[in-house]
Amino acid sequence: MNEVFLEEFIAYGVSIGAVAFFIIWYIRRGIRKTHIAEEKISKAKEFGLHEPVSLYPIVDHETCIGSGACIEACPEKDILGLVRGKAVTINASRCVGHGACFHACPVMAISLHIGTEKRGVELPHVSREFETNVPMLFIAGELGGMGLIRNAVEQGKQAVTHLAKKINKSIDAEYDLVIIGAGPAGISASLKSREMGLNFLTLEQDTIGGTVFSFPRAKLVMTSPMDLPLHGKVKLSETSKQELIDLWNSVLDKNNIIINQGEKVDSVERDPSLFKVKTTKGVYTARSVLLAIGRRGTPRKLGVKGEEIGKVYYRLLEPELIKNKNILVVGGGDSAIESALLIADEGNKVTLSYRSDSFSRIKPKNLERITHAQEQKQIEILFNTNVTEITEDKVLLTNQSGEKIELQNDLVYVFAGGELPNTFLEKAGIRITKKFGEAVLKH
Ligand SMILES: Cc1cc2nc3c(=O)[nH]c(=O)nc-3n(C[C@H](O)[C@H](O)[C@H](O)COP(=O)(O)OP(=O)(O)OC[C@H]3O[C@@H](n4cnc5c(N)ncnc54)[C@H](O)[C@@H]3O)c2cc1C
Repeated sequence: MNEVFLEEFIAYGVSIGAVAFFIIWYIRRGIRKTHIAEEKISKAKEFGLHEPVSLYPIVDHETCIGSGACIEACPEKDILGLVRGKAVTINASRCVGHGACFHACPVMAISLHIGTEKRGVELPHVSREFETNVPMLFIAGELGGMGLIRNAVEQGKQAVTHLAKKINKSIDAEYDLVIIGAGPAGISASLKSREMGLNFLTLEQDTIGGTVFSFPRAKLVMTSPMDLPLHGKVKLSETSKQELIDLWNSVLDKNNIIINQGEKVDSVERDPSLFKVKTTKGVYTARSVLLAIGRRGTPRKLGVKGEEIGKVYYRLLEPELIKNKNILVVGGGDSAIESALLIADEGNKVTLSYRSDSFSRIKPKNLERITHAQEQKQIEILFNTNVTEITEDKVLLTNQSGEKIELQNDLVYVFAGGELPNTFLEKAGIRITKKFGEAVLKH
């Protein structure tokens, strides 16, 4: 009897011990995770990454069960972390809005927001049919505030379906519709327009693919299945940038859709019911216009002789392929500095030209890294300089005292900020409202 009691006692003891061990391990793991996340939050605050710049997730702590599924699902590192068993945002400014966390949460505790109480984000006002306050001028995609490739594709399609019903054929114009921008929204709108038999023209300042084209080559693109007009369901959930661009190009080719690439639209005017779309190459007239221009704006140019030479770029796509070149990077913001640091690693001779006398308003970490690179002679920094001319194998600069500097050069990267789409919208007469943290995607 005593033996049985002893055995039971041991069995209970072992079980209780195991349970207690598990509970202690679980609590300590939670404390460790909380500690790590809190440290990351304070670092993010120090580096200016805690404040969102565009879309970002907010977790409803009443609903969150701390499964960590959102953290697992997000391929961008450290946007979310666990504090006291609940998900919290850490580096909100790194969020690119693909919403993987939103879809992954098993209890639907995540919503995606734009703007904060302190910092509003300006968005154009659009109706449910995607029409702005200017009749027959429509907006689709990220410009309207909703990020994600799938949403842009969906909105491009829907906007065309709505506007097609309202086109007034009696207006004497070259086109039923001019679509501006060939990112996911503009591509899908073009396909829908072809499907609906509209007489349309698509204009793109850069290259087909929009923001997706500017993703790093190795980036994993996350997207929920989407329905592409004239193609059908696209079931990729994780794909590469190239796979997606190839798919879009092949569907456009199959349907004989030619997009005018490298043609920037400068303005859209309505006069009185006819649209005049002025571009860098001409003027087109249309009965309706769809703006699918995203929210990233147009890179600002230097406006100097030789800038049109094919060696001047406004974004850095594949730094790992650039080797043993003489490179000039122009600008003094985070993008210029991060790009200069990336290419300085590959045996390139990198010079950074900045028109001011010091870097201000950059992330402290970038300041530390660029100062180190300068000390190690990996990058030469020319403060107080302006580019005056670009030739096939050289760049010419002048400094504050008017002295000329000539550098051997193979490539120029310009990061001089950009014209934000808001100016463009205001010129077109579109009403803009500020959003202070409203949810743009919620269950
Ligand atoms: C780094 C990063 C990673 C991301 N990862 C993902 C992801 O994995 N999954 C996902 O779903 N989303 C992702 N996103 C978000 C996604 O890229 C955007 O939501 C989507 O591209 C928006 O599509 P859009 O067509 O509205 O605009 P955009 O893709 O921005 O396209 C707008 C186009 O308009 C053109 N344009 C602008 N102005 C003019 C003008 N005046 N004249 C002519 N053309 C003009 C631009 O050149 C551009 O090609 C990511 C975003 C970033 C920045």
